[in-house]
Amino acid sequence: MPADRRGDRQAALRRRLADAGLDALLVTYLPNVRYLTGFTGSAGMVLLDPVRTVLLTDPRYAVQAPAEVGASAAVEIEPVSLWERLGTVLTAHRPSVLGFERDHLTVRSAERLAGLGLPRVEAAGGAVESLRQAKDPEEVDAIRAAASLALEALETVLATVRVGESERSVAARLEAELRQLGSEWHPFQTIVASGPRSALPHAGSSGRPIAAGDLLLLDFGAIVDGYCADLTRTVVVGAEPDSRQQERYQAVRTAQQTAIAGLRPGQSGQEADRLARASLNSAGLGAAFRHSLGHGIGLEVHEDPRLAPTADGLLPVGAVVTVEPGVYFEDWGGIRLEDDILLTAHGPALLSPGAPPLRVVP
Ligand code: ZN
Ligand code: ZN
Repeated sequence: MPADRRGDRQAALRRRLADAGLDALLVTYLPNVRYLTGFTGSAGMVLLDPVRTVLLTDPRYAVQAPAEVGASAAVEIEPVSLWERLGTVLTAHRPSVLGFERDHLTVRSAERLAGLGLPRVEAAGGAVESLRQAKDPEEVDAIRAAASLALEALETVLATVRVGESERSVAARLEAELRQLGSEWHPFQTIVASGPRSALPHAGSSGRPIAAGDLLLLDFGAIVDGYCADLTRTVVVGAEPDSRQQERYQAVRTAQQTAIAGLRPGQSGQEADRLARASLNSAGLGAAFRHSLGHGIGLEVHEDPRLAPTADGLLPVGAVVTVEPGVYFEDWGGIRLEDDILLTAHGPALLSPGAPPLRVVP
């Protein structure tokens, strides 16, 4: 039985709220609701005040919600209006300053909240997200399992890739294999991009037939216990790689290895990003690296902390981040390599094995 962290998470959140001068927080962002209570439904909100944690949801979850949240929250099932019910719940213990999640509330919802007639309602930013950055051991285990499942699915599919088949057909087999092996869902739309299309960093997958000698870039992931892995591999299909493919691949791989080896908690996201950028600069490929180095993964596939030229936030111990340098040349193609790394107090620990040398498939 894995440890139940929900009480600790809520206690940590209460301390942060008190520091921020709030005496209650309304959590409407579902990944945050899940983090605090375990509730996985598609509609619900959590009110957290000094003495209670209340989950409000609708009758579709009358059985599921109490089973998932257990003792971590009181459950209120509301058939008509969650906002009106929130008003009722608040009358029992009126907060003088109620915070809401500014990044996640629609204007309509903010109006409803304002209509509850509370003394003060204040926009609060990122309190739960910031707690989520440092992963508990169980969260790390789930991400590691997702990464390993994803790479196993990839191996199966790479062995069957044929020259002439479409990117979409490879993506379909990969997604099916991921599900067969136990991925709960796809954390994002799988990218399978071949030849010149691999130069589009977020290409999706098309009907383009894969040609012999093409670069094939696959960006894919898996979800285990709600936690995402995010990986990218680039291979050559059906022919020995040429020297330019070899050279550029090796430069990206070196940049990835250099960045992983240099990652430390306490660095800024900017410093981490620079590790790979400096490596690609020295290979003369800096201008072809057109996105940031990586991002946190967890309950969401893109979360804090960011590893980017503009990211000044510090990387905490326990963060799990992707390291995904890439180079892209229009009309030629792109190479990206992505792995998932845990930042321990002693340095980086790989949750996926790092990119292998350039290989030919099938
Ligand atoms: Zn990815
Ligand atoms: Zn990524």
